[in-house]
Amino acid sequence: MTENQPTIATTIADFITAIAKALAAAQLQADEQARALAAHEGTEVIYRDVTLGFVPTMGALHAGHATLMRRAAEQNDVVVSSIFVNPLQFGPGEDYERYPRTLEADAALAGEAGVQVIFAPSVEEMYPDGDPLIRITSGELGTKFEGKTRPGHFDGVLTVVNKLFNIVRAGAGEHEVNAYFGQKDAQQFVLIQRMVHDFNHSVNLRPVAIVRDDDGLALSSRNEFLSPAEREAALVLSRTLALLRENSLNRGFEGIDLQSARERINATEGVRLDYLELVDPHTFGEPTEESERVLALAAIFVGSTRLIDNMDLR
Ligand code: AMP
Repeated sequence: MTENQPTIATTIADFITAIAKALAAAQLQADEQARALAAHEGTEVIYRDVTLGFVPTMGALHAGHATLMRRAAEQNDVVVSSIFVNPLQFGPGEDYERYPRTLEADAALAGEAGVQVIFAPSVEEMYPDGDPLIRITSGELGTKFEGKTRPGHFDGVLTVVNKLFNIVRAGAGEHEVNAYFGQKDAQQFVLIQRMVHDFNHSVNLRPVAIVRDDDGLALSSRNEFLSPAEREAALVLSRTLALLRENSLNRGFEGIDLQSARERINATEGVRLDYLELVDPHTFGEPTEESERVLALAAIFVGSTRLIDNMDLR
C-alpha cells in the first residue's frame, strides 16, 4: 500500500516541481530501458519522450475516477491528478459546503490506480485575490441543459480547467500532456474541447466512458448523499435511458418517445425530472435523422440530490 502513496502537493509551485521531477525520473528510466534494449538487440538506441497523464477531479473518488486514472496510467509514464472542490462552479444554494471531502481515502485510491502526484490546493491557493476577476465564459452552449439549471456552472468549470491546464503544462515542459475526462459529464467535455481549441492549449483530451454500478446507476460522488430508498428511486434515470436506447436500436429515431420517458421519471416517488433531451454529442445541437450519434441527456433531483446521466441511443 504505502509504496503506492502519491505525493500530495498543496501549492501550485510544489505541484509544478513535483510534475517536473516525476517526468525527469521517468525519462531517465525510459532512456535507460532504451539503451538496455538496444544493447540487447544490437541495434541503435531509439529514445522516446515520456508523457504525462492528468486527471482533474473534485475528490470523493470512486471507481469511475479510478477508471480514468488507470487509463491514464496505461497510456502515460507519469500520472497526476487534482482534487479541488472548485467554488466557482457551484451556484448559491448548491452543495458546495456539503460536497464530500475525503483526501486521505482519495490519496489511497489514486495511488492504487497509478497516480504519482496529487494536487490538493486550498481555495486561497487557487484564487488568492478572492473570486477571480477574469473568467472564461462558456457562451450559448453554457446556458443550455446543465447550464440552464446551473447558471455560471460551466464558466466556473472552464475557468478552473484553464488554470489547471496552464499549471500542468508549466510542470510538463515539452512533454506531451493527455487529460482524461469522463463522458458522464458529456456537456462539460464538449465545452472543454472547444476551450482547448479556442485557446490553443497543448493538451490532448481523452474521453472515458461512463462507469456504472452493477445495477446501472452511474457512479457519482453525490451518490453518497442518497438514502437506500433514494438510491433505489434514482435507478429510474439509467433504466429510462436504457429503455430509450433499446427502443431506438429496435425502431430507429421514430422509436424514441421522450415524452413518456419524462413521465415515467416524474411518476417515480421522490424523483423530479430536471430535463431529458436529445442532442448530437459533437455539437450539442438538435440531432437529426442523419446524426451519426444521438445522445440522451438527463438530470433529476432525488430528494435534495441532483444527479446526471446520459446514454448513446445509436
Ligand atoms: P468530478 O470529481 O465529479 O468532477 O469528476 C472528475 C472526472 O471524473 C470528470 O471528468 C468526470 O466526468 C469523471 N467521472 C465522474 N464520475 C464518472 C463515472 N461514473 N464514469 C466516468 N467518469 C466519471
